[in-house]
Parts: sequence; C-alpha cells; structure tokens
Amino acid sequence: MAKSNKTYKPALQEQKGIKPPKTLSTDSAKSIKAKRKKQPSVNDLVAGITSGNITDLSRAITLVESTNETHTAKAHDIITACLPHANNSVRIGITGVPGVGKSTFIEAFGSFLTDIGKKVAVLAVDPSSTLSKGSILGDKTRMEDLVKDKNAFIRPSPSGDSLGGVARKTRETIILCEAAGFDTIIIETVGVGQSETAVHSMVDFFLLLKLAGAGDELQGIKRGIIEMADAIVINKADGDNLKAAKSAKVEFNRALHLYPEKDSGWSPRVSLCSALKQEGISDIWELIQDYLKTTSSNDYFEHNRNNQNKFWLLQTIEERLKSDFYKSEKIKVELKTQIALVEAGKTTPFAAAEYLLGL
Ligand code: GDP
Repeated sequence: MAKSNKTYKPALQEQKGIKPPKTLSTDSAKSIKAKRKKQPSVNDLVAGITSGNITDLSRAITLVESTNETHTAKAHDIITACLPHANNSVRIGITGVPGVGKSTFIEAFGSFLTDIGKKVAVLAVDPSSTLSKGSILGDKTRMEDLVKDKNAFIRPSPSGDSLGGVARKTRETIILCEAAGFDTIIIETVGVGQSETAVHSMVDFFLLLKLAGAGDELQGIKRGIIEMADAIVINKADGDNLKAAKSAKVEFNRALHLYPEKDSGWSPRVSLCSALKQEGISDIWELIQDYLKTTSSNDYFEHNRNNQNKFWLLQTIEERLKSDFYKSEKIKVELKTQIALVEAGKTTPFAAAEYLLGL
C-alpha cells in the first residue's frame, strides 16, 4: 500500500544552485511583512467563497481549523454568512478498513461524478491525525487524478485532540464547501473506531466498503457500522476475486434482512464494484439517486438533517462547556488540590466534583 508522505521539494533557485540573497533590505522586509499581515476580511472571504474561489475557500477552512481565538471568531462570522448559501448538496459518508480501497474508490467515484457535471468536495474525519504526522485520509497524493480535476476539492482531515473537535471542524467545512458550490460532499473515515458514528451524524447517505472473503472480525467491522450503512459495496470485485465477491453479495443480502428496519424507510442494498477497473461505479450513483428519491418523498431527508443539526447543537455546547471548564486557571489549580485530597482519602470524588463545578 503506498501511503506516501509529502516529500521535501527544494525551491527552484535551490534546485538550480542559485543562492538567495543573504539579507533583505529593511524596506523590502517591511513590505513583505505588510503583505503577510494583510489578511482578507470576512466579507472578502465570503464573497470569494460564494463565487467559487478555491483559494478563499481554503483560507476560510484554515481559519476553521485554527485554535487561535481570533481565527475562530472570524471563522464563525464566515460560516454564519455562508449558511444561507449552504445545504444544497448530497453528503455521502464512506468508511471501510485501511486497504479496502477507499481512496481508489473515491478517485473513481469522484471522477465519475465530475464527468456528469457534479462538483465534488472530499473531506475526511481522522481523529488520530496530528499536526506532525498528517492524515492518511483525504491525502491528496492518494487521489492523483481527482486532485487535478478543477471540479473537485480535496481536503485532508483536520487535526485535533478530540473526535468532537475534528468532527466539528469537518461539519463547518461542509457548510463552506456547499457555499462554494460543491453539490456532492464525500466524507471519508476509517471503519475501525468511533469516527464513523460522528460521520454518520453529518451525512445523508452512509456507504460501507468491504472486501469479499474476509470475515467481519478480520475486517474489524462492528455490527453497529453495518447497521448504519445505507449501502454495502463489495470492492475489488475483479479478476480471481469476482466469484467470492458475488457470493459475498448473496450472503450480505441475506444478513441485512436480520437487521431492524431503518427510520428512513430505505432498505440497505449490496453492490459490487471494482474501484481499480472503474466498474460498478455508476450503479452506486444510481443507488444513491434511489435513496434520495425515497427519503425526499417521505420527508426523511429534511427530518434527518434537522435532527443532525439538533445533535450538533448539543454536542457543541458539551464540548464548549468542557473546554471552558478545563481552560480556567482557577480550575487547573483547584483540580490538582482536589485530586490530591481524593488520593489521600480526605474527600470523595463526588464531593470534589461538586466543589469544582461550583467554583
Ligand atoms: P484505502 O486504505 O482503503 O484507502 O485503500 P487504497 O485505495 O489505498 O487501496 C489499497 C490497495 O488496494 C491498493 O493497492 C489499490 O490499488 C488496491 N485496490 C483498490 N481498489 C481495488 C479494486 O477494485 N480491485 C483491486 N484488485 N485492487 C484494488
């Protein structure tokens, strides 16, 4: 599996052996500094985003992802101004264990969509990503064709120390991408942890990629994830694998009957595809169209988005209360004291918590 990290690319001058001037004159240094300082205003960015300017979209996403309070406030204003332009999209979650073919599939599916005139944004939720190691999801080097496609926009997972934080940033990024005219939003995540629950709660359609011939345990897929899926797509249905993929389809169709009926009124389907050979891709799009027809005629689509908004409202409050609490200098000091008292058996954890929460 090629999981390339970004490699260092020397500047052109450096490549040609040209040495840069050692010092800059004070004037030019000042003007560079001034240019760097001149950040586009909220209005500039909103105007840029709503007219489809990708540079402005990226800049705004960087503000969303920042931990700097000024940036966060600016991001908040941009999102509020973009909200009336958002919502007009299909949001598709894609999950599956590493190696199942997520990036190959997104490359094939994304290219298919741009070919039929769609504008596709690919985002990722990977809570394990940190600033230093970067994300393996939504990595541009893994989607070579799509990254060159002017109707596609790929953004790796934001980093963060909590899943809630990463998920919030991705949700806000969805709004910005929609305001920039992207009508199909793909959100990639790894099917091994809690992150798919977060992704499931921000998408309209949830697609699970699987392999034939390997048991669920082997693939690290939990029952809960299968329950969330609107479609199970068996990838790598090609060559010697085709026969196994076909029988896996039969098995899954049988197994899906054992799951409870969904609120959406939609019965999940199983499909085969070869992301590598780009086969079965249009069938998946047709399947999603059927889903959209069903869920818009029974109003589930709207209902689900409203529920998701309520969920994220509460989630944001919880995150915020928690982070404000632990950020407080007073709490930092008192928490240490209370922990010591609990350890020494001089107070109970409940009394200590009551005391801290009442400060
Ligand atoms: P990810 O980790 O889930 O993103 O998986 P990748 O997209 O990186 O794919 C893992 C490996 O499986 C790569 O070597 C791909 O070329 C290969 N692969 C992906 N899709 C297919 C497919 O449809 N058929 C076959 N034969 N190989 C595939």
